Amino acid sequence: MSTATARTVHNEQHIRHDWTSAEIAALFKLPFNDLLFEAQSLHRQYFDPNQVQVSTLLSIKTGACPEDCAYCPQSTRYDTGLEVEKLMEVDKVLEQARAAKNAGSTRFCMGAAWRCPKPRDMPHVVAMVEGVRKMGMETCMTLGMLSEEQAKQLADAGLDYYNHNLDTSPEFYGDIITTRTYQDRLDTLDHVRSSGMKVCSGGIVGMGEQQTDRAGMLQQLANLPQHPESVPINMLVRVEGTPLAGQEDLDPIEFIRTIAVARIMMPASHVRLSAGREEMNEQMHALAYFAGANSIFYGEKLLTTPNPRANEDLALFARLGINPEQRELTEAPKDPSPHFYDAASV
Ligand code: SF4
Repeated sequence: MSTATARTVHNEQHIRHDWTSAEIAALFKLPFNDLLFEAQSLHRQYFDPNQVQVSTLLSIKTGACPEDCAYCPQSTRYDTGLEVEKLMEVDKVLEQARAAKNAGSTRFCMGAAWRCPKPRDMPHVVAMVEGVRKMGMETCMTLGMLSEEQAKQLADAGLDYYNHNLDTSPEFYGDIITTRTYQDRLDTLDHVRSSGMKVCSGGIVGMGEQQTDRAGMLQQLANLPQHPESVPINMLVRVEGTPLAGQEDLDPIEFIRTIAVARIMMPASHVRLSAGREEMNEQMHALAYFAGANSIFYGEKLLTTPNPRANEDLALFARLGINPEQRELTEAPKDPSPHFYDAASV
């Protein structure tokens, strides 16, 4: 058997959809160094360990969301002083996408604070997807729940990824959101998958959940019929005015453990550091990359919470010898922008 074939056979054994709670608990309980070694060893079999994928996220419609997600400053139920903005015009969105591309982003994510898109919104979001795709960037959207028909419309427009997080475990879920069910979320993921789009789904840690809930969330994600291609692990950003504003800090070591366990359970997926990076120092970023995180959002804003400036990320990449991953769209040339290292304007 050739080495390449041996690696393929070996790899397939790692892609599992039958994780038990006991197995995941055992991973969380491993000595830290053992856990990180296992995660990093697996990571290297699927990815270049010195590459991190970089996406930019733009809020295309901000605030006034009718849902009650306890962590979210965009819910209309909480007084967070957030400035509400209606759906952006298509041209404005494309302008931002162009700037993101010039700053080295390979994927442009557009997020709207909706329970679900209304029929009147669909032509606008479809035009945004088509425009960004024409620039040769990968596209991602997060618009709330999707019907089967809406998922198909977006897939037909060329949307590559749809983000819809499970947020937490089924057991803890009711403490965080009451306006949509866990099953609603699973249904949206199912519609996205059936439409042919790639799935981006993860959750938030540090909301007061137990380790068993972090494990339960990862179990739900890994035991889907197909792993999400992208798994964002967010650290709660405590926003004044939301019910979780006074939540206690999650131990940073526990956060890194969660990244490592996600990497082991879904070895071929991009594990993304998303919200909460502002609170993480360089050492924690470096440890997260070692544990298997290989995707970040950068730019000035991650929806409505602060995000480290792009140039800080690039400076750390340089110190760690990390290269931004180039996307592999077929119809556009690979174009490492000459402006890449002058990305402060994103
Ligand atoms: S997380 Fe999304 S659905 Fe929940 S309140 Fe915020 S914008 Fe609305």
